[in-house]
Amino acid sequence: MSLYGGIEIGGTKVICMMGTDPEHILSETRIPTTSPGETLPKVITFFEPSADQLEAVGIGSFGPLDLDPDSSSYGCITETTKTGWAGTDILGPIQSVFGLPIGFDTDVNAAALGEQRWGSAQGLDTFLYLTIGTGIGGGALVEGNLLHGLMHPEMGHIPIPHDRNQDPFQGICPYHHDCFEGLASGPALEARWGARAETFSEDHPAWALEAEYVGYAVVSYILTLAPQRVILGGGVMQQEHLFPLIRSEVLEILNGYMHVPEIIKDINHYIVPPALGNQAGILGSIALARKTIGH
Ligand SMILES: [Zn+2]
Repeated sequence: MSLYGGIEIGGTKVICMMGTDPEHILSETRIPTTSPGETLPKVITFFEPSADQLEAVGIGSFGPLDLDPDSSSYGCITETTKTGWAGTDILGPIQSVFGLPIGFDTDVNAAALGEQRWGSAQGLDTFLYLTIGTGIGGGALVEGNLLHGLMHPEMGHIPIPHDRNQDPFQGICPYHHDCFEGLASGPALEARWGARAETFSEDHPAWALEAEYVGYAVVSYILTLAPQRVILGGGVMQQEHLFPLIRSEVLEILNGYMHVPEIIKDINHYIVPPALGNQAGILGSIALARKTIGH
């Protein structure tokens, strides 16, 4: 049986998996994301006993990442604010140990790939996967290809209409203060309201405001990418009551524009949760490994 390795590198933990698809997962482990010198060797140790059975490995990582194969820092995390990780070569150490084909991309691009293969975007070639959690990021397939271009999209940092009378909160992004991530990520919710968002009741005013910000962002992506579907994942979106609020906001902000039945008649199937749930990222890394060798 063909076996693939998946590595999802997140800001708090790294998930490693060996398997072929959601029904065939051989083993899985979680490693805390501490320092590169401590975390990456543990990743390698997990795969080493089975390395000769692996056909390819997929790595989906938090970023920003250098994804340009011609660049001297290809495979590195670039200017992250996560202490100790800026400039870290992720791809090199793993490649040198295993000598296998390795797919390397953002965690959200990997998740998008997983959702296309096994989840909420099956049969689609242009769609968006957005995660709203500790940070906010978006991965997109456009006509079947993961969107890269100059580097990779950084959808969490778009400007958002911010009415300071309604919401005087300054925002928490160290670069932009009140960008989308600065206003609407999990840590932003906690900083604005003084408690963790999962402790709020469904009628807490936090949710209407959150839905408004997510609505503005999703409308921007709908208008620029024309996605066939929008998948909203991540810790904050585990609050399922947010979905109807966000769908209403999107319809209201679009105001009849983008007049397609998928949006105006069937928005419940247009803005959806990830079918792979919180496994989207790691299973997406398996999908990325498979895509790398055309399996
Ligand atoms: Zn920002």
